[in-house]
Formats: sequence, C-alpha cells, structure tokens
Amino acid sequence: MKKRILTGDRPTGSLHLGHYVGSLQNRIQLQSDGYEMFNIIADLQVLTDRLDTKDVEKNIRELVLDYLSVGIDPKKTNIFIQSRVSQLSELFVYLSMLVNVGRVGQNPTVKEETKATGGGNMSLGMFSLGVSQSADILAFNADLVPVGEDQLPHIEQARDLVRSFNHNFGDVFREPEAMLSKTPRLLGLDAQNKMSKSRGNAIFLSDTKEVVEKKIKTAVTDSDSSVRYDEEKKPEVSNLIMMYHLFSDMSIDEIVKKYEGVKSYKEFKEDLAEVINKFLDPIRERREQAEKEEDIARILRDGTQRAIEETEKTMQKVRKAMKYEYRSIF
Ligand code: ATP
Ligand code: MG
Repeated sequence: MKKRILTGDRPTGSLHLGHYVGSLQNRIQLQSDGYEMFNIIADLQVLTDRLDTKDVEKNIRELVLDYLSVGIDPKKTNIFIQSRVSQLSELFVYLSMLVNVGRVGQNPTVKEETKATGGGNMSLGMFSLGVSQSADILAFNADLVPVGEDQLPHIEQARDLVRSFNHNFGDVFREPEAMLSKTPRLLGLDAQNKMSKSRGNAIFLSDTKEVVEKKIKTAVTDSDSSVRYDEEKKPEVSNLIMMYHLFSDMSIDEIVKKYEGVKSYKEFKEDLAEVINKFLDPIRERREQAEKEEDIARILRDGTQRAIEETEKTMQKVRKAMKYEYRSIF
C-alpha cells in the first residue's frame, strides 16, 4: 500500500524561506516519489491565537499560489480546507476524551503561552491544539508528517493518542512519524526567533527582487564586520551565511573563504540578496503563470472532497470500534 502523508500550514500569511527548507522541499520530494499526499490548510488553527479573521480567505488563496509556485501539483497532492472536513472535528472530540489536561499542559506551545499570559487567558482551542492536530493526522491514518522542529511535540501527542485509542477500542490507527528536514528550524532575519509569518522576520516566497534586497540590506549584523561562521558569538551573521549556503551550491567553508579579509558586510549582503533572488526567480515565474492559468477554487473543492471521503472511511472504523455506529437506530 502507498504510504500516506499529511502536512500543512495555517493560512496566516504567505509562505517563507523557512517553510521551503523546513517542509515544502520534503513535500515536493515525497510527491514525486509517488506517496499519497494530503495537504491541510489549517484555517481552524488560525483562531488559536487571534479572532481577527478578515484575511483568512485571502490567505488561503495566497497559500495555494505559494504551493503551486514551488511545484506542489494538485493532481498529485490533495489540498483541502480543515474547517470543511467536519470528520476532523468529530475525531477531535473523541480524542479529547483520551488524554488528560496534565498531559496536554506539557505541550511546549501551551507552556510558552502559559508563561506569556499566565495561562488563564489562553483559549481552550489553543490549549488543545496538539489534540486537534492529532485528529488531523489520525483521520488520514498518515504514516509520515513532514514538519519543522516546532511541531515535534504534536506528533508525539498523536502517537500517544494512537496507543490509547487502540488499547481502549481496538486497532484502528497507525503511529505516525515526523519527518524533519536537514534544516528543521531556519532562523528569521532577527536571528532571535525562527523565521515566522507572524513575526515580521521573514523573506516570503512571493517577495519581489527589490523587497528581498531591502530586507537583506537592513538585516541585523554586528559591529565586527568579518564574515565568519560562529553561531554563538556571531548569531546574526552566521544565520545569513546559513541562508547563503542553503540557497546556493556553496558550502559554509567556501562562503567564509570567499569573504576572507573583506572589511564590511556590504558585498556579502549584496551577493546574498542575489543568491536568494536567483533561487526565487523560477518560483516567481511559476506563481505568475499559476495566477493566470489555475482554477484555485476548483483545486480546493476537489482536494476537500477527497479529504472528506478518506476521513469518512476512518470515522466509520472509529464509530464501529467505539460502538457508536448505532446500527439498530440508523
Ligand atoms: P505562524 O507565525 O502564523 O505560526 P509559521 O511561519 O510558524 O506561521 P506555520 O503555518 O505555523 O508557519 O507552520 C507550517 C509548517 O512550516 C510547520 O510544519 C512548521 O514547523 C514549518 N515551519 C515554519 N517556520 C519554519 C522555520 N523557520 N524553519 C523550519 N520550518 C518551519
Ligand atoms: Mg507556526
């Protein structure tokens, strides 16, 4: 049987270079290796940290264009909208009975939020995010989940829930495995946090040439002015060297060597912007083409329909295992 992949993103903004190296690259590889691909647009998850929903619909469209621009092929990858697959919400309710609040509170995202806000202000939806994400993965009985490092605890949660469900109701689910890339956490231009849509520290796949040049030019460095790789003493410059390496065919050593003795970051930064722009050029071209030629609504309707069919199959097994089929009634 073909292995199944579930992966996805929140429609909170455009995709960036962190997504590319952290997850999209793996998705494209798995897609061409012939895996059965389901790509979730996690619109319900948007609500975990904001109630302003005015951009969600626009962001869904942008996300699909981002996918198409990097080579995700809707004929091979089912792209679907989370909230339109009610089976996912149904499974979430069942799974939420199988885990205690102590365990859910151990989730690092929840812990961080508790630290930041005192905990009492956290929405129940944010608190249970790991369980909701588990439902998304398990409803497809996914084998592999290509994600960035920040998602690992959620996959662990999903595996726990598989054991608990199978133990209580019989074997329905398989334990999914996380698939990390070689760069599971690309830092942002601030070098403090991971590159993230919501932190203003990202280079987006849809950024123009000029925007990339400006972002690199104003990226934080240090006053030492030498291009050396030292994550501890020179985190900002090291992060820029890492980007240079990831989007060119040069090793870190080769890059450092190239700028040996140069007493300013100007030339290095100009070259880095060029490297990134060269990488983004074909992506920009494909995006423009997709905007003209592709029927986004149709891609989403077809992908969502497939997702409903597949998750309904799982839910029939779940209801049967739980004795919630009620054959004598319905
Ligand atoms: P937000 O700030 O709204 O949470 P995000 O940039 O974190 O957005 P998500 O949609 O939450 O993006 O994440 C989608 C996927 O991309 C996840 O698997 C996540 O681990 C991965 N990812 C996001 N940012 C990075 C990064 N900087 N490096 C590697 N992987 C990343
Ligand atoms: Mg995120």
